[in-house]
Amino acid sequence: MTVLVWFRQDLRLTDNPALYHACRTGEPVIPVFIDDPLPTSVSQLGSASRVWLHHSLQALTQDLQASGSHLILRQGSASVILPQLLAETGATRLYWNRLYDPASLQRDRQLKESLRQVCEVRSFNASLLNEPWEVLKADGTPYKVFTPFWQAMLRYGIQHQPLPAPAQIPAPAQVPASLPLDSLKLLPHIRWDIGMMSHWQVGERAALHKLLNFLPIGGKDYQQARDLPAHSGTSRLSPHLHFGEISPRQVVWLAEQFLAENATADSGVRHFIREIGWREFAWHLLYHFPHTVERPLDERFTRFPWAENHEEILIRWQRGQTGYPIIDAGMRELWQTGWMHNRVRMIVASLLCKNLLVPWQKGENWFRDTLVDADLASNVLGWQWTAGCGADAAPYFRIFNPILQSQKFDPDGDYIRRWVPELRERSSKQIHLPREPGENKQNYPLPVVDFKASREQALSLFEKIKQPSFRKT
Ligand SMILES: Cc1cc2nc3c(=O)[nH]c(=O)nc-3n(C[C@H](O)[C@H](O)[C@H](O)COP(=O)(O)OP(=O)(O)OC[C@H]3O[C@@H](n4cnc5c(N)ncnc54)[C@H](O)[C@@H]3O)c2cc1C
Repeated sequence: MTVLVWFRQDLRLTDNPALYHACRTGEPVIPVFIDDPLPTSVSQLGSASRVWLHHSLQALTQDLQASGSHLILRQGSASVILPQLLAETGATRLYWNRLYDPASLQRDRQLKESLRQVCEVRSFNASLLNEPWEVLKADGTPYKVFTPFWQAMLRYGIQHQPLPAPAQIPAPAQVPASLPLDSLKLLPHIRWDIGMMSHWQVGERAALHKLLNFLPIGGKDYQQARDLPAHSGTSRLSPHLHFGEISPRQVVWLAEQFLAENATADSGVRHFIREIGWREFAWHLLYHFPHTVERPLDERFTRFPWAENHEEILIRWQRGQTGYPIIDAGMRELWQTGWMHNRVRMIVASLLCKNLLVPWQKGENWFRDTLVDADLASNVLGWQWTAGCGADAAPYFRIFNPILQSQKFDPDGDYIRRWVPELRERSSKQIHLPREPGENKQNYPLPVVDFKASREQALSLFEKIKQPSFRKT
């Protein structure tokens, strides 16, 4: 008798229900990770995420080894590999933690149905505070607005004591063959990843360490500091949460414990817990409205007349060459570190969709490829929110002014100076402004668009799609 534990986005030993319950059977446990290229493009991992995954698997392998176990790596369709592994090892149980994106849900349902004939299949929740179907409106429908969703979630209960890591993981007498990690080719040929990863420590221990360091320092003035991109005012836990190196239940539990001991940190840490709620809301929405991975939640936006020939401006945006300093700083931070500050994500997304009229899906795609925390639900929510077509979205007339945002949230220009070296010599007053046509700044481009004129144009287009009679030509 053996239990297969299929690791996916739960790359940790603590608070891992599938692993915990597998160990409780007292039978030998075989942990396996499958690099499974799912059929839809939106479920494919982007390049930055593949790099993170490489390091995360490395960390998990070491942690499992320290507990007497071995991670088995395979590549290919899980629907083919799992039955093979069950036959090869004689395992009679298969445990995994649930994923909630449409492609994984479909595959997992089919797998469960077919494999139930040959073994016991159990799945668990390891990546959300509560299941997406547990917190619903009184009429049984899903929430589309965050605040009532979060209030309902708090009433339902968000505190769950995390499960301990198993002290010892019983290994089988014969360990199945595993592919070497390098053969998964998660790292790029041209090693651009080395610079990016110099900004990060990966793995379960690093994630916990980061949270425990953040709570006493960042937790205190999180409410104010979280909006200032020049400061380390947020936790930077997003990639760790995405890959499941830490669970949201651990985060909330430890934050609540910290609060019980440090009442003065209350408002900051409470606000931080509420942000974990946005992640929860994102998965709630994606689970109930799976079509939103590609289509807007607000149907009127399917008729929006996006700019047609936008390839060139899209490239300028991607490369951080728009001529708007705060935008270029954000896009370059993303390129160099695989991460971007939340405030700046909103500003760059607003410029792309509302001023440059590039479809939000193009921005979502770029983020998916370049973010180490690329997360289908949070990314789609963030993009649709900013474009004005999603749940609880920013109203269409809210178009972030990149100059005013820069002056307000990066008043001394330190964030811009860090990422746009050609503007380092500018004064704190000048640094937020685009270059004037006559100004001699050869190495910094003129603005890609006139902010005021493009704002007016966007507003009139948004007005039009509100009219039921409007048809895209
Ligand atoms: C256009 C756009 C795209 C985005 N794409 C992603 C994405 O692909 N992956 C991703 O994890 N987040 C995404 N976000 C949300 C947010 O920007 C990041 O979660 C946050 O910047 C991560 O930094 P942090 O861990 O320091 O956050 P903290 O402020 O420390 O927050 C703690 C955690 O709460 C969650 N969280 C915080 N804000 C949000 C939010 N607005 N939506 C959902 N969850 C949130 C994250 O898991 C985060 O790690 C996007 C936002 C926008 C506007």
